[in-house]
Amino acid sequence: MGDCLFCGIAKGGIPADVVYSDERVMAFRDINPQAPVHILVIPRAHYDSLDAMSDAQLLSDMLQTAARLAREMGIAESGYRVVMNCNADGGQTVQHIHAHLLGGRAMAWPPG
Ligand code: 5GP
Ligand code: ZN
Repeated sequence: MGDCLFCGIAKGGIPADVVYSDERVMAFRDINPQAPVHILVIPRAHYDSLDAMSDAQLLSDMLQTAARLAREMGIAESGYRVVMNCNADGGQTVQHIHAHLLGGRAMAWPPG
């Protein structure tokens, strides 16, 4: 956890384009956006992945933050996707749980 990238962003030591922040949750723009809107929503507390997440209220806070940001960014009506990649086969590359908020273009299904 000491060298966790998203803990570094949550604590302010690593810069990020922060779009929302409160005492429990933070949201910032993905450094390598895959859609016109690509925001990462994280808890300030460290959990490795969805598999390790034990705080149901915090999970709810993350999802409600994603939905609220989608409305604020003007993509709620056109539609968007919220994704949590979990562990290796899920494609998770940063082991600090995060939800991707993606929108501003039509999404394909199934994901790769
Ligand atoms: P994952 O692959 O774990 O689901 O998602 C990790 C995401 O973090 C990727 O979309 C990647 O572009 C993003 N990312 C990696 N390093 C940084 C960084 O230093 N700053 C920001 N804002 N995003 C990052
Ligand atoms: Zn962390």
